[in-house]
Amino acid sequence: MAHYTPMIQQYLRVKADYEDAFLFFRMGDFYEMFFDDAQKASQILEITLTSREGGSQDRIPMCGVPYHSAKGYIERLIAAGHKVAICEQQEDPKQAKGVIKREVVQVITPGTMMEGAGIQEKENHYLASFEQSGNDYAVAAADLTTGECRTAVFHSFDSALHELAAYGVKEIIMNSAWNAEDLKKINDRFGAVISIEENTDEFEFDALLTKLTHSLTRKASVRLYHYLHRTQKRNLDHLQPAEQYEIRDHMNIDYYSKRNLELTETIRSKGKKGSLLWLLDETKTAMGGRLLKQWIDRPLLNEKDINRRLGIVETFIASFFEREELREQLKEVYDLERLAGRVAFGNVNARDLVQLKKSLGQIPRLTDLLKKINRDAVQQLADKLDPCTELFDLLESAIIAEPPISVKEGGMIADGFHPQLDEYRDAARNGKQWIAELEKEEREKTGIRSLKIGYNRIFGYYIEVTKANLGLLEEGRYERKQTLANCERFVTPELKEKETLILEANDKMMELEYELFTQLREKVKEFIPRLQNLARTVSEIDVLQCFAAISESRRFVRPVFSTDRTMIIEEGRHPVVEKVMDAQLFVPNHCFMGPKRDMLLITGPNMSGKSTYMRQVAIIVILAQIGCYVPADKAILPVFDQIFTRIGAADDLVSGQSTFMVEMLEAKHAIVNATDRSLILFDEIGRGTSTYDGMALAQAMIEYIHTNIQAKTLFSTHYHELTVLDQSLEHVQNVHVTAAEQEGKVVFLHKVKDGAADKSYGIHVAQLAGLPDTVITRADELLHSFESKENKPEIINEGQLSFFKEELVSKPTLKEDKTIVSKLLSYDIMEMTPMEAMNTLYALQKSA
Ligand code: ADP
Repeated sequence: MAHYTPMIQQYLRVKADYEDAFLFFRMGDFYEMFFDDAQKASQILEITLTSREGGSQDRIPMCGVPYHSAKGYIERLIAAGHKVAICEQQEDPKQAKGVIKREVVQVITPGTMMEGAGIQEKENHYLASFEQSGNDYAVAAADLTTGECRTAVFHSFDSALHELAAYGVKEIIMNSAWNAEDLKKINDRFGAVISIEENTDEFEFDALLTKLTHSLTRKASVRLYHYLHRTQKRNLDHLQPAEQYEIRDHMNIDYYSKRNLELTETIRSKGKKGSLLWLLDETKTAMGGRLLKQWIDRPLLNEKDINRRLGIVETFIASFFEREELREQLKEVYDLERLAGRVAFGNVNARDLVQLKKSLGQIPRLTDLLKKINRDAVQQLADKLDPCTELFDLLESAIIAEPPISVKEGGMIADGFHPQLDEYRDAARNGKQWIAELEKEEREKTGIRSLKIGYNRIFGYYIEVTKANLGLLEEGRYERKQTLANCERFVTPELKEKETLILEANDKMMELEYELFTQLREKVKEFIPRLQNLARTVSEIDVLQCFAAISESRRFVRPVFSTDRTMIIEEGRHPVVEKVMDAQLFVPNHCFMGPKRDMLLITGPNMSGKSTYMRQVAIIVILAQIGCYVPADKAILPVFDQIFTRIGAADDLVSGQSTFMVEMLEAKHAIVNATDRSLILFDEIGRGTSTYDGMALAQAMIEYIHTNIQAKTLFSTHYHELTVLDQSLEHVQNVHVTAAEQEGKVVFLHKVKDGAADKSYGIHVAQLAGLPDTVITRADELLHSFESKENKPEIINEGQLSFFKEELVSKPTLKEDKTIVSKLLSYDIMEMTPMEAMNTLYALQKSA
């Protein structure tokens, strides 16, 4: 190290503390990077890699980005999953002795971005910490832009991972003691950056921990707070006390199901468009948009809470005019939560404060409007709206209506707010006036009509006279300052004196304005908790008016809740499918699931609408439990504790796992966790493997859910052989999606009816798809020959279905081979891994 120049030595010392970040090393107007950082960054950012002398034999690789355009480059590095440490010059280069002092002032990481392209208006931006102690896990998730922090305990690694996934975290904070295997799992699942924080010292953060009762949630939150402070290096006064929640407080929808049901993003495009969130989002504020997403992620379980929301929605629907006005007014409310965050963070400007003021100015009108709607629940919301009048008045008197972006160049603070500032302003204004008068006087005195007084940064104020007129100037009074091609510039003692006054006043004005602005910001800081409360109420009002608007425009009805697990949906619709297709064409369907109908076995040709039907039931259930009306003519629903789905999607390959493995993992997740208050949707279980094990697994799962779980279950299958199960399993009911044949072609009617589908339309679908006629005719022939062999499913062993049909498995017929059948029956399939199940089946087949 000794051979490097002092500056490079300083660089290396700083860099040693920030190994995992790109070090942006401020040098004048640039941030420079050196060594490996330079090599990597020049590739990622596509900027030129150069080099410089640094005292060693080899030149040092270097690249840099201009200070004024650094933001975009930083965002690109962060988007690529990196961190950036900003190292600033800490003293005036002119006054520095030796190497300028430099210090890292902030580390920007994927989870701690405060602004830029990575931050979506209507989405939270979470980072989370992850804690383990024995079999317990804790997750704490915070959004630095809004200051929220939430934490919970989990009793399995898997459910903790599901929660992390639900937050969509960009960065996970952990200690360094995690084992590599777990880290790999986390990495595979999220591709999130993992950052290490060892410090879990509590004492600095007492005030933020008051609501936490579990040692593990405390630890998780504290680790997060330390990380935030260590990287952001400033007061984070907007961080709110962490909220501890219980997984049981909300309907649990696991990560797979959220994806499958396309609640907040679609599977294919990963975008919001086409999701339930997209359909519902009629919110008018960014805060409301974020709360809507949170509500969809966590439907309620408590019927009273659900009905409270539904009641307000009903009231809003009934108050059309007030609601329309409410929507207009909400548009004028800016993002109070993120404004509060920026105030605390210190990167707020005068324009932000004007937005804050305007938003606050809107609150009394909102309150009046809500009070007009004379209903208890709405009144309560109105009462919770805190207009923060003192803050409004302060901002109103302090800041002009249209201040500049910069906070260092003055022109923000209103006249009359501060006497000293007014004096400086007078001086500056009068000074300018005086200069104008002086110009006039000088013209008259000298008779030079072209004489003018100008100003430049180097010479200050000057009197300019063209060469032709020089002779008209009085001797000795004018001191020459500058000679130009056709004129000369002079100063006089009077002009100099006034100049000092004006410039001083200007400087002092800017300095004082900045100081006043900083004081104002400190003052606003004191209001942060109140602003955050206000933000919460405004967003709740916004989401509820959004529910009312959607429920009305899309003809939803208010659901009611049953206590005996009955589910009656009349003319239910899938709201998103209905919206994207012509609403006239969408075929509504009933779903009746009473005591004898815990499980519906759904058959019907491909593309007939089985999975749409299943999804629509789940979406109706979720809408009801977030407190929204539902797309149906009538809905009586149990309150479900959890929803599980296994719905095939072409691209659900999670990091190298086979589709079948994913299918089995999802099925396992449902079977292990579901209760009799859960809703299970299994679409074509077993499709990912060969017919026999697929069918075997499907039946075994149906039996298990039927007998051991009794969850409400929709099970679609193309194994027609399974439809006999309704004879042996009491709570199973066959339904089918109808299709009709017209002129040898299949027409989908999309109507769900009781009973099993009587015929497979596969060949007709193939025909629809345009397979050559020869193939279709041949398939028809074959089908007839199969059917003529009386290949009907048989019931053996007290109603168990035979999967193994004589003509498909040649010798010897399994029905006779009691040992294999009894072996098969002895397996506890639920205890097997999918691979074990497959291997066992394979062995059975071999031995047959
Ligand atoms: P399956 O699961 O039986 O293969 P899908 O549920 O995927 O069928 O539906 C196939 C297509 O049929 C959907 O993309 C949709 O356009 C249409 N569809 C499904 N259900 C309905 C319905 N109830 N009314 C009108 N069209 C429907």
